Amino acid sequence: MNIIMLGAPGTGKGTIAGILSEKLGIPQISTGDIFRKNIKEGTELGKLAESYISKGQLVPDEVTIKIVEDRLNKPDAKNGVILDGFPRTIVQADRLKEILKAKGENVDITINLETPEDEIIERIVNRRVCSNQECKAVYNVVLHPPKVEGKCDKCGSDLITRKDDKVETVKSRLEQYFTSTSPLVEYYKNEGILYSATVSKTINKLGEDVARDLIEYLESK
Ligand code: ADP
Ligand code: ZN
Repeated sequence: MNIIMLGAPGTGKGTIAGILSEKLGIPQISTGDIFRKNIKEGTELGKLAESYISKGQLVPDEVTIKIVEDRLNKPDAKNGVILDGFPRTIVQADRLKEILKAKGENVDITINLETPEDEIIERIVNRRVCSNQECKAVYNVVLHPPKVEGKCDKCGSDLITRKDDKVETVKSRLEQYFTSTSPLVEYYKNEGILYSATVSKTINKLGEDVARDLIEYLESK
C-alpha cells in the first residue's frame, strides 16, 4: 500500500507516519529527514537543500523527485511506502504518479491533516526532536512533553529544536504550503483517495488519536 501524508508543517505528518509505518510494516520516507541527514553530513545535496530550507522555501522539484525516485527503487519499498512530506507540488505529484505507474502501482490513500493556523505556529515553536538520526522521535514541550526534560523517552538522546522551527521561518513555510502544496488536496480529492482528518487540541485529537482512527479505517476497508 502506498500512502501519502499531506498537511501544513507541524500538523503531525511525521508522528502519524511513524505509527502507521510500525503498524503496517512498510517504510516511512520523509524528504525532510533525508535533507536534514544530508545537511548534517555536509554533502552537496545537504548544502543545496539547506540554502532553501533555512529560508522556509521548498527544495527544487528536480532535486526532490530524484531523491524519492531512488528511494522508491530500494528493495524495502517493494510492498509500499508512507511518503511523509512528498509530494509538495503538483509537479511532484504528477511525477510520482508516473514513477508508480511504471512499477504497476499507484497511490492508495492520501491522508490530509488539518490544524488551525494559530495552533500550527504554537505546535512548531514548541516542537523538539530527538537528535539521534536513527530515532527522530518528536515531542511537544506542552502537549506531549518527554518524561525527563530535554531527553528522548525512547533512546535517551538530547532533544533539540529544528533550525527551521523559528517563528520567522514558519511564516514562509506556511505561505509555501498554501501556495504550492494545498492545491494537492483538490488533486487527490478528484482522484477519490483523500482521507481528511483534523488534528487539534480543541477537539482533543492529536497525532496518536488520528493514527488510531486511521488504522481502524484501513482495517475496515
Ligand atoms: P515540516 O512538514 O514540518 O515543514 P519537513 O521535515 O517535511 O517539515 O520539511 C522540512 C523542509 O524540507 C521543508 O520546509 C522544505 O524546505 C524541505 N522539503 C521537504 N520535503 C520537500 C518536498 N517534497 N519538496 C520540496 N521541499 C521539501
Ligand atoms: Zn530518541
